[in-house]
Amino acid sequence: MPNKKVVIIGGGFGGMNVAKSLANTSYEVTIIDKANHHLFQPLLYQVATAALSPGDIATPIRSVFTKQKNVKVVLGEVVEVSKTDQVVQLAEGDVIPFDYLVIATGAEYNYFGNDDWEKSAPGLKSLDDALRIRERILVSLEQAEKIHDLEDRKPYLTFVVIGGGPTGVEMAGSIAEIAKRNMMRDYRNFHRNETNVYLVEAASGVLNGFSESLSDNALETLTKMGVHVLLNSPVEEIRKDGVQLKNQFIETPNIIWAAGVSGTDLTNNLGEETDRIGRIKVNEDLSIPNHPNIFVIGDAAYFEDEKGKPLAGVAPVAMQQGKYLGKLLKNESNGTNRKPFKYVDKGTMATIGRAKAVADIKGFKLTGFFAWLIWGVIHIFFLIGFRNRFRVFAEWIWHYITFKRGVRLIAHKENREVET
Ligand SMILES: Cc1cc2nc3c(=O)[nH]c(=O)nc-3n(C[C@H](O)[C@H](O)[C@H](O)COP(=O)(O)OP(=O)(O)OC[C@H]3O[C@@H](n4cnc5c(N)ncnc54)[C@H](O)[C@@H]3O)c2cc1C
Repeated sequence: MPNKKVVIIGGGFGGMNVAKSLANTSYEVTIIDKANHHLFQPLLYQVATAALSPGDIATPIRSVFTKQKNVKVVLGEVVEVSKTDQVVQLAEGDVIPFDYLVIATGAEYNYFGNDDWEKSAPGLKSLDDALRIRERILVSLEQAEKIHDLEDRKPYLTFVVIGGGPTGVEMAGSIAEIAKRNMMRDYRNFHRNETNVYLVEAASGVLNGFSESLSDNALETLTKMGVHVLLNSPVEEIRKDGVQLKNQFIETPNIIWAAGVSGTDLTNNLGEETDRIGRIKVNEDLSIPNHPNIFVIGDAAYFEDEKGKPLAGVAPVAMQQGKYLGKLLKNESNGTNRKPFKYVDKGTMATIGRAKAVADIKGFKLTGFFAWLIWGVIHIFFLIGFRNRFRVFAEWIWHYITFKRGVRLIAHKENREVET
């Protein structure tokens, strides 16, 4: 009998863990990703703010499976899934058959119907996004350096982050640090006190989903760092020269979107029931209704825990679901019955800046240095390749001691023009 084919779409936290669990089994595993690398998204903001290099947080997917001969890696974008014919189709036209399919395509930023905002306010999801944001910040500082009038250079020293979730908080905190710290000493024409960082949030607090005390702590910490946190402030319009709120227009070319996610085109077109943000509703074993051989995991899936609370779009959920699915498929080949997926919540945390974070670990609420240390160790520990892990840890310690930002190159000519 031919070996069964498992096709995995997406080499993120979920997909990689399925493939790793099926290493050296009788399954023929194909992992397809439109990027050639696994990306450690939780450290993307460090690339966007010039603390780490892209290579520190990305590993070629192929290199992870060098020794796992039953795992094949394909670079390509899946544009269609045929559930009845059991094939997936790539953008280039290739058709790949499957016996089991795992959809682990993650999520995309949601501009709530205002897709034209994306050009002026990129989200932070890929290496390309991080580099685009980094270069925008650097180019803007170069522009400010050339302008002698204080008012005229103000927009170039203004930064707006939209969305007060963990990504927005990390990003605003990190920009506030570079704006107020050593990097500014390299510029002669403006003073670091001229920079303004705004965090804009439609709700009445930041880090919604965290406990009230941690959310309040994050707000207080950001404020102390000099971030102007604008709560209850839904965005009305985004233009290339700024952000329109109800009572205020903030003039700046530096706008970053971190306000909500939706499904990908692939999952949106799958014809399955989704929640309000486009996550596919899955069964207890992560399969989709009426198709026990097709699974959706990670950010792309909607799954409720025993208390009926939907699991959050975070890396541990995707990783645990990936491992669970690997085990399920191994058991399947032995004829063992499927057990339902159960998420073990080991805690939630978010960083705000250097030595500043909040963490809720099994009811224990931590803030400040200890929360930050735990965040750092856990996140660096999870980096896929050991080489990266070691280097990132060293860089991290170096930045902590010196406050220096390492990677400040402007490499793409098209990003050099920043107008307001
Ligand atoms: C900036 C940022 C900061 C974050 N910080 C944290 C944090 O501190 N802690 C935490 O736990 N979580 C954090 N998260 C969330 C976490 O990264 C996600 O929950 C996790 O990556 C989800 O894993 P996944 O496997 O479902 O999807 P992803 O890791 O997003 O992987 C999806 C993969 O699918 C590929 N893909 C998508 N569509 C296709 C297609 N059609 N064809 C082929 N390939 C495709 C993509 O290229 C990608 O490689 C953060 C996310 C971001 C963006």
